[in-house]
Amino acid sequence: MHKMLIVGGVAAGATAAARARRLSGDAEITVLEAGPDVSFANCGLPYYIGGDIESRSKLILQSPESFKDQYNVTVKTMTEVVSIDKDAKTVEVLDKGSGSKATLSYDSLILAQGGKPIIPPLPGVDKDHVFSLWTLADMDAIHDYINDSEPATVVVVGGGFIGLEMVEALKKRGLDVTVVERLPQVMPNLEAEIAGYLTEELTAFGVDVLTNRAVASIKDSSVVLDNGAEVPAEMVLMSVGVRPTLKLAEETGLALGEAGGLLVDEFMRTSDENIWAAGDMVEIEHRSHGKKVRIPLAGPANRQGRIAATNALGIKKSYTGSLGTSIVRVFEAVAGSTGLSLQRAREAGIPADAVVIHKENHTSYYPGSKQVTVMVIYNTETAVIIGGQTAGYAGADRRLDVLATAIAAKMTLGDIADLDLAYSPPLGTANDPVNMAAFTAENRQSGHSPALTAGELDAWAGDKKPQIIDIRETFARDRAHVAGSVHIPLSYLGENMASLDKSQPILVIGENGKKGHQALRQLIQAGFTEVVNASGGYISLERYQRAVGFNNMEVGMGELEAKSLEASNETANESAPETEIAPAAASDGPIVVDVRSPEEYTTGAYPDAVNIPLDELDDRIQEFGPFDRDIIVYCASGARSAYAQRILMQTGYTNVQNGGGITDMMYKR
Ligand SMILES: Cc1cc2nc3c(=O)[nH]c(=O)nc-3n(C[C@H](O)[C@H](O)[C@H](O)COP(=O)(O)OP(=O)(O)OC[C@H]3O[C@@H](n4cnc5c(N)ncnc54)[C@H](O)[C@@H]3O)c2cc1C
Repeated sequence: MHKMLIVGGVAAGATAAARARRLSGDAEITVLEAGPDVSFANCGLPYYIGGDIESRSKLILQSPESFKDQYNVTVKTMTEVVSIDKDAKTVEVLDKGSGSKATLSYDSLILAQGGKPIIPPLPGVDKDHVFSLWTLADMDAIHDYINDSEPATVVVVGGGFIGLEMVEALKKRGLDVTVVERLPQVMPNLEAEIAGYLTEELTAFGVDVLTNRAVASIKDSSVVLDNGAEVPAEMVLMSVGVRPTLKLAEETGLALGEAGGLLVDEFMRTSDENIWAAGDMVEIEHRSHGKKVRIPLAGPANRQGRIAATNALGIKKSYTGSLGTSIVRVFEAVAGSTGLSLQRAREAGIPADAVVIHKENHTSYYPGSKQVTVMVIYNTETAVIIGGQTAGYAGADRRLDVLATAIAAKMTLGDIADLDLAYSPPLGTANDPVNMAAFTAENRQSGHSPALTAGELDAWAGDKKPQIIDIRETFARDRAHVAGSVHIPLSYLGENMASLDKSQPILVIGENGKKGHQALRQLIQAGFTEVVNASGGYISLERYQRAVGFNNMEVGMGELEAKSLEASNETANESAPETEIAPAAASDGPIVVDVRSPEEYTTGAYPDAVNIPLDELDDRIQEFGPFDRDIIVYCASGARSAYAQRILMQTGYTNVQNGGGITDMMYKR
């Protein structure tokens, strides 16, 4: 009978045990777990603290008893493996309750010891109000401390995904939260502009985000930063990363790898033929560039545990590596990445470019659509996708998974442009944001539409000192713009081209990159040679500015609308205030009528314009007064207002003008 010992009983270890039992009915399987709990949902810990998960017991996925009942696996908790004799194929275990030691033998040994949060040796780090979050016991300690001591302020040290999930949880518990991050941005695996989307959300929810800052010491009710500033902190959460647990492996003489993890081959076997390993403690191959990396995430840990058990039982199954696909939700913002970022790709010597698009997650005419951002990173020699990042509230997860699948399948931009993705008006768009990102990347790749991401533009702008043309509508420009840019809305570009210098490079900035592409094509067709579109438009520039800031462009940032947890719990769908036409006698000029929807109207309207949506025009026609009254109608593009003009004229109004789109109206003003 095969004797399998598994060290560690959470993600990788518990999965390995269950898999081993499914493969072998008679193997003797024992899980040795140093802690008090086995198979618990550590990814769920922040949501219990925040109150989204109300029942603590839901986080406990298995107990020693249920493991025995369901799988006939023996689980020994509070049992630490303290040494391994790989020649004798035995381990020495310490019963942490009684202090007694015992020796157990194995045919195969699976190490699934995970890692531990890094706690930097700062003065004051061992104070009672300083916590980290890795286990149920950590969670309980934080939960109880908030209940008992009622801290009002907390500093979260580290802006990675656990830190940010905890920001939301701590806000939900009523604390004032400050995030201190040593790097220039939160979530360093994300491109700066994608991280900027999260920074916007954190800021809107009143969280202070201090980047390029480190905590130097911790006092009783504050932390001191590396610049000497003091930040109130009646509680401190350390969340600066995780270090693999390697002492036992090192003492056993198992080989470590170049990325600082335990070395395993494609079968998850260590340098010893009877010992396998899986999860946060190992280093594995990155599927995008084949280099060794450590990816401490639950998905890879589970799959590696499954594969380690399969091989330990003599069935060959190889692990193909990981893309490090990860996603985080912070309040109402979701952002994630898969594969390589543009920077990592270039650092790895891969010729890479990227584009970014922002598009509605489902058709804009169906209520409730939200913008989703998709960035694709691709190899410029092969057009194969090597990375992807997404941001948005609804639909960012789905697009990220499509990109992860495309990277794993080594798809080219052309393959992705042709993907048939699910579409129905409430659920998607006929050209999915993923398709659109691929079209845009093909346009950059072919030279049809040169574009640079926000991160690339900074250096380019510093070098080229371009003429910057802002083609957005007036409201958007008034909200925020790049200092020194010229405002020429797209529809006025043709008539203003003569004012532009053909010998100078041009940077075109639209709202989201799409109209920027149109403007760029117009300019190129008119003989301008060096024109670049800001990929992702102003949305991307503003997020980049908020995350890390430009050095060579002065990018204005609009005021963020403050958000609150109370407001997001209410179904906020406030309609625009209804407007009325003044009686004819009260006005001497023409009436300006905005025939867009109330939601569009609230985003910005012509001064004193009356909002009568096209659908309501028939019912409200008596409000217009005498038939000779001067009326100007406008909408977003001039299409709906053309209908409105026709309806009014058919009714008998003689002086009706179609003012066109809001951009035209504002520009002519
Ligand atoms: C708060 C939090 C949120 C997270 N959220 C996500 C998420 O949303 N998505 C995601 O992909 N990942 C997430 N993770 C990461 C994910 O949980 C880990 O990647 C995963 O748990 C790693 O599994 P593992 O089995 O390798 O190690 P672990 O889960 O750390 O388990 C290792 C176990 O080994 C035991 N052990 C160590 N040494 C010994 C020894 N000598 N003898 C006996 N036992 C030993 C330890 O006590 C421990 O219980 C999160 C982690 C945390 C803490």
